[in-house]
Amino acid sequence: MGKATRVINVKRLKIGGGNPIAVQSMCATRTQDVQATIRQVELLEAAGADLIRIAIDNKKDLEGLKEVRKRTKALLVVDLQENYLLAEDVAPYVDKIRYNPGHLHHLNPNLSIEDKVKWLVNIAATHDLAIRIGVNCGSVPPDFLEKYGHEHARAVVEAATWHSRLVESFGFKNFVVSLKDSDPQKVIEANEEFTRRRPDVPIHLGVTEAGMPPDGIIKTRIAFEQLITKGIGDTLRVSLTVPFENKGEEIKVGRKILSDIAAGRFISVPENFGKGLNIISCPSCSRVENNDFVKLAEEVKAMSEFAREHKITIAVMGCRVNGPGETDDADLGLWCGPSTVTLKRKTETLGQFRYDNILPALKGELDHLIQFQAR
Ligand code: SF4
Repeated sequence: MGKATRVINVKRLKIGGGNPIAVQSMCATRTQDVQATIRQVELLEAAGADLIRIAIDNKKDLEGLKEVRKRTKALLVVDLQENYLLAEDVAPYVDKIRYNPGHLHHLNPNLSIEDKVKWLVNIAATHDLAIRIGVNCGSVPPDFLEKYGHEHARAVVEAATWHSRLVESFGFKNFVVSLKDSDPQKVIEANEEFTRRRPDVPIHLGVTEAGMPPDGIIKTRIAFEQLITKGIGDTLRVSLTVPFENKGEEIKVGRKILSDIAAGRFISVPENFGKGLNIISCPSCSRVENNDFVKLAEEVKAMSEFAREHKITIAVMGCRVNGPGETDDADLGLWCGPSTVTLKRKTETLGQFRYDNILPALKGELDHLIQFQAR
């Protein structure tokens, strides 16, 4: 599903260029706590992670990393966090390094950013590692923030574009870029803008600090749905606040979002998805209050089959919490309450119907829309 970016190699794993979107996550442990880190690596591997990230802050973490490396064959990414100088020591034990352009200025303030990045690139090239240039809205490089008037989203895109060019200027192309924020809308805007500028660079998608399920999943899904349907995103990470032993959920949710997108199950209305009739229904979650929702989604699909050549989007959403807002962009929307279904045309509410008489009302609106399109 990925767009035609170039392909990068994290050892045996290929990312970008139309390869399946790689799903990754990060251990929520201090790497010096080897037992805990190994346990999370196991949980993530068991859930099917393609890549596992761990954080390194100091020499004790480095010792932990060496032990972890001995005990797993998983592909490991190290997050250099605020201590980019550890890159040389960690390189023999990992497959990819992530640097944050917003943290390079802390150490060695007398060295230029260009020299620091050149040093990191040399290490990556020597050890056959991939790089992620990971730009975060919460830690934008100060010079970019200043230049773009503290307009975070713009500064994130400019920093990602500048660092991509910088890394390439040293003859290195084995990198991905991430542009993250905790606001899904900003994630969408930043990634779209970066892709307009650099359609060739593979992208790592993520929404930071998404929070606990189900809200954290919903926020992440909204961003991923809008971007992946446009072919943006080559690897992804779902970031959730979950209990230690549930760590694998981040991977499972990532894979579920990908399979739902492939099957047309959405919680937001994607732009320009599908050529003709586009029926989307939410994947459902604990907020569903009437189990007839699933049956209704199937009936809507069957009833509207006659209109498959028409460019119309019908959205069927499972609850009254997010359903009203998430149907706004559909030509016709249905959101399901405990005993009634609300029918909408774009943002306009047309009425409430019982589950057993919503279909004729929807069919009437669909006929009307088709006649209107024919004029
Ligand atoms: S629309 Fe409601 S029921 Fe459906 S996935 Fe979103 S929150 Fe859950």
